[in-house]
Amino acid sequence: MDSELKDIRDKIKEFNLERDWDKFHNPKDLLIALVSEVGELAECYRWLNDQEISNIHSDPIKRKNIEEEIADIIMYLIILAYKTDIDIIKSIDNKLEKNKLRYPIEKIKGIHSNPIEGFKSGI
Ligand SMILES: [Mg+2]
Repeated sequence: MDSELKDIRDKIKEFNLERDWDKFHNPKDLLIALVSEVGELAECYRWLNDQEISNIHSDPIKRKNIEEEIADIIMYLIILAYKTDIDIIKSIDNKLEKNKLRYPIEKIKGIHSNPIEGFKSGI
């Protein structure tokens, strides 16, 4: 695991252990918390047009709010990963390799949808 990510993971672990919250962190509740945080991030953008979105990114208070929601999301993902013994860096590397095979550059470059497999479910 990348040492910077490991340091962050250890800080999050320590934070939770100090508060005796680790006992509450089962995968189901972590996932619900994660989705709740994604909802909070979505709320930052809800009903905004492109110009308004650009404006919130340059507003220091609104930008800070978005940063905090992103941090919440990533922290829950890190907790979920260590509670389920998943190496995040290795998982991302493996998934990128799989995606390279699934989406070859010569067939997919610049295309938004997937003309190779269409909307295939269960993947
Ligand atoms: Mg939040």
